[in-house]
Amino acid sequence: MQLTKTNFIQYLNCPESLWLLKNKEEDYPKGEFSLFLEKLIKEGYEVESYAQQLFPNGNKLPSFTTPEQTTLALSDNNSHYFQPSFETQKGAYAVIDILEKKNDNTWHIYEVKSSNSIKTDRKHNHVKDSCFQKYVMTECGFTISQVSIIHLNKNYVKQGTIQPTELLEIVDVTDEINNIYSSTVNDINAALNFIKKDIDLTQCSCIEKTRSNHCDAFQHFNPQVENHSIYEINRISAKKIEQLRDLGILQIKDIPDNFKLNKKQRLQVLSNRRKETIINTDEIHQTLNKLKFPLHFIDYETYPTAVPKLDRMSPHEHLAFQVSIHTLLSDSTLKHNEYLSDNVELPDILLKLMKDTTGETGTFISWYAPFETSRNKEMMKLFPEYESYLQYVNDNMFDLETIFHTLYVDYRFLGRTSIKNVLPILVPNLSYKNLNIQNGTMALDTWGKTVLEPEKFKNLSKVRKDLLKYCELDTLGMVKIFQRLQTL
Ligand code: SF4
Repeated sequence: MQLTKTNFIQYLNCPESLWLLKNKEEDYPKGEFSLFLEKLIKEGYEVESYAQQLFPNGNKLPSFTTPEQTTLALSDNNSHYFQPSFETQKGAYAVIDILEKKNDNTWHIYEVKSSNSIKTDRKHNHVKDSCFQKYVMTECGFTISQVSIIHLNKNYVKQGTIQPTELLEIVDVTDEINNIYSSTVNDINAALNFIKKDIDLTQCSCIEKTRSNHCDAFQHFNPQVENHSIYEINRISAKKIEQLRDLGILQIKDIPDNFKLNKKQRLQVLSNRRKETIINTDEIHQTLNKLKFPLHFIDYETYPTAVPKLDRMSPHEHLAFQVSIHTLLSDSTLKHNEYLSDNVELPDILLKLMKDTTGETGTFISWYAPFETSRNKEMMKLFPEYESYLQYVNDNMFDLETIFHTLYVDYRFLGRTSIKNVLPILVPNLSYKNLNIQNGTMALDTWGKTVLEPEKFKNLSKVRKDLLKYCELDTLGMVKIFQRLQTL
């Protein structure tokens, strides 16, 4: 059984989830995120191809060569090799992005990352995964004298042909890796032993942790945890989870009155126990009455790319490719306008349509407004001529989701206030279920494929209609939710 650097980082995050992946792959949930993951992998290859251009005479080795074949291939006169692979006797397996032979017969490992910086967080630890690569090569008999990480330069702004020396930064991490080397080797050995353990794991440790720690395998390991469980309580701490479990409580409805929770959490418990919605009608009306008509319900779909596709854009900047706007007038007239780009272009046509549709009038309403306001700030930089318009939009933006934090609490939201959770409860006749595009990840993935690989689609116009329907439902859903709140 092999252990790669990705497996190793997964092990450090959660040994149980890696065990499941390695031993019962059929039970390992793929999850909605896999589409996004697929996009990240493709972007990784793209960044790597630019990194390889930094070493023009590099020699690309075939994948899955044995250590002996690799050693043989590395004995030629080249100084740089792309993708040489190594495997230790215990099964630790590494494909090195770029390997440099130094004059003193030692080796320099370059690991390529598609991020804007070196990450050392729990889920992505670039220093530890580079250390894993050094360990594998060392075990295979090579002397590694230097390790560097190549990542995207966050200050890069594309202008014409991309120059790899401007797009990328090389950071020497040899010292950091030397500092953690022996402890990482212990962890690698522990991981190799753990995945080969002949055990049948039926529980995992996230039963003691909050929902933000849970992965898609939580349900597999903890089937006894059903909907309306204590993990759904907003921002509940691990300590409180532990206290409740000590009391033998897993369901929200069983939480006693005297158990200490904040106001928001208490409302959630109340709604759950009574199986009814807790509504602060007066405050909802007061809040909605402050909004100025016309009301522009707005939603963007965006496509972030690691390597900028257009001049004036930077690594990982979002490209707004779609907007839907429903405008509600004070006499209840509803108008809809939308734009969906059919190629990779800066959003000037989109902005013109927005400005022509709304002008600097009324209130803009979105769901989780920080997303829309951040995109507006980015577009202000790209198009200074729209700065005052976009500033107006941001200054007059209302986040409809905030109503559902404490003013309207319903146990059927299952502790989440995304529009996908709220809409089916407030407006049951509107649903995402029958749409071909069901969420933002699918929207960006589908749009990206339609513009970058159009030849793969038999019926492009139908796919475009699916994209339009999805974004339209986001804003129509907000209108219907708003109108439902007005009737309270
Ligand atoms: S739910 Fe938590 S402990 Fe369980 S497998 Fe996932 S990450 Fe690991």
